[in-house]
Amino acid sequence: MTLRERLASIQERAQAAAHRSRFGVRPIDLIAVSKAHSVTSIRNLYELGCVKMGENYAQELLGKAPLCQDVEIQWHFVGQLQSNKVRHLLPLVSSIDSVDSIELARKIARLREKLQPTRPPVPIMLQVNLGNERQKSGLPPKIVEELFPKFMEENGVMVTGLMTIPPFYKDPEKLRPHFKLMKELFDRLKEKHSMPRNFRYLSMGMSRDFEIAIEEGSNCIRIGEALFGPRPSTAQD
Ligand SMILES: *Cc1c(COP(=O)(O)O)cnc(C)c1O
Repeated sequence: MTLRERLASIQERAQAAAHRSRFGVRPIDLIAVSKAHSVTSIRNLYELGCVKMGENYAQELLGKAPLCQDVEIQWHFVGQLQSNKVRHLLPLVSSIDSVDSIELARKIARLREKLQPTRPPVPIMLQVNLGNERQKSGLPPKIVEELFPKFMEENGVMVTGLMTIPPFYKDPEKLRPHFKLMKELFDRLKEKHSMPRNFRYLSMGMSRDFEIAIEEGSNCIRIGEALFGPRPSTAQD
């Protein structure tokens, strides 16, 4: 399949899943996770109308984004973020989807004020660790609920949603209850948000499980391999 065909197939499958789901047909945002893929592939995908790209290594994004400055790609940072990288990433990214501490949110807010004082609050998503897996980043659901008012108090950032990377199962069907809990958490927080319309993304679903995630309420999927093909084995996963 060509890139065009893969993109069309994902969009069709996403819409079909939304149609089947009890939440009905709705816009499903697609973030193309371009880690380990070339600037050429990224540009090709952009030409096909996909404008949101996700990267999860700061170094890689710092290398690629400057080579794409003639096109309006919206870079989403989706990886574990060391706070000393924020300064360099901030001017390049349209959203940081993997915020997992109040300290990181404050750091982003502070640096926005210092480096980009005229920029509107930086969109961020809170990363939730559903499986409470030690090795994975993200905040446990209970802590997200506790800290939510603090995240909202930070004027330099705007919490636009929740992001999760679920535990790995051979059978993605097993993720359904996890996705369901995420949707419930998302709905509860939406009620508490000072600007509920800005809190609109439930980012869950990757190549293997995006249809199940959409059936359970996701409205933002992050797709790597199903779009770009397998990552070269040198990629650090
Ligand atoms: C790599 C990655 C994805 C995409 O995974 P695929 O299985 O290739 O679709 C999504 N989200 C994050 C945070 C990732 O690191």
